[in-house]
This record gives sequence, structure tokens and C-alpha cells, in this order.
Amino acid sequence: MSARKPVVFLDRDGTLNPDRPGWYLTRPSQMRVYRRAAPALRLLRRAGFRLVVVTNQSGLGRGYLTEDTLGRIHAKLRRLLAAGGARLDAIVYCPHHPDRRCACRKPKPLLARRAARRLGLDLGRAAVIGDKRADLGLARSLGVPGVLVLTGHGRHEKPHTGSLRPAAVRRDVLGAARWVVDNVGRRR
Ligand SMILES: [Mg+2]
Ligand SMILES: [Zn+2]
Repeated sequence: MSARKPVVFLDRDGTLNPDRPGWYLTRPSQMRVYRRAAPALRLLRRAGFRLVVVTNQSGLGRGYLTEDTLGRIHAKLRRLLAAGGARLDAIVYCPHHPDRRCACRKPKPLLARRAARRLGLDLGRAAVIGDKRADLGLARSLGVPGVLVLTGHGRHEKPHTGSLRPAAVRRDVLGAARWVVDNVGRRR
């Protein structure tokens, strides 16, 4: 039996690529990545983490884009990251409108758990990085640390109240990656 691998679940919009309120990324040409995204992913991979993007894409359920277009957007994301020497193990997404109350939209853990089973990931050595409360909620439902980044919506989130308190708050995904490397996944 091969050992299960540590993992970081990464949000997409506002964490790896720019996002703004009320805006939907609907064309590959609109996809660009933060300058510090590829260095962050390289750092995490060097430290042994698998990298899985978990993203809510309600634009599909709202009819703003098709699955085919989303596939091309994700191909562009992978190309941009590859140009920076970084690679993702998987991208999983919820396609549903929030009104559907589906089983897979973050903060629900279904997509992350499914990816963990499929890829042989160790949820005992895992973290979530994201810019919204839903990402911290995902971390809580998985029982792993959640790191809030201040890019995207992060500056406007109010995470310090209630049960969604992040394990750490960092300026961007590279800062969050450094926190994860220093604090998560050490074998005991
Ligand atoms: Mg986000
Ligand atoms: Zn869903």
C-alpha cells in the first residue's frame, strides 16, 4: 500500500487569479494568474503537497458559460501556471446555482473528499487556502487548517468572528503557502 500524500486544497478565483464582486470569468482570454501563484505552488510541491483546486462555478448553473468553455478556461489556467513551473494535480468544481442547495458547493466537503479518495490524499496532513468564508468553511468541515488570503474578496471578509476563524491570514497565496509549509504536514 502506498502512503497517502499531504494535500493543499486551493480556491481558484481571488486566490490564484484575480476576482471581483459580481463578476464571472467566462472566457479563456480573461484568465490571468497572480504573479505569486506559480511560486506558491512550486513551494508547496517541493514540500511534498499534492495540489487540488476546489472551486464553486455557479456561472455554469446561471447559464453564463458552458462546461466546454470552463474546460478551456482551466486549460488556460494550467498553461499559465506551467509557464511558471507549477502544476496542479486536479481541478474540481461545483457547477450548480446556489439555489439548488446541491451536495457539492463549498463549504460542503464532498468534492474535496472525493478527490482525496481518488488521488490517495491524507486529510490528516492537509490545508485549505482561499479568499472567502466558504473556503474557511470547507477547511472546518474537513477538519484541517484554513488560511485566508487578502487577495480577491479576502480584504472584505470578516473571518475573525465565530467558528470560521482562520488558522492564519496572509497577504496572498505565496504567504499562505509559506505558512502551510511551516505548519502543516509534518509527520508525527
Ligand atoms: Mg475565491
Ligand atoms: Zn454543486
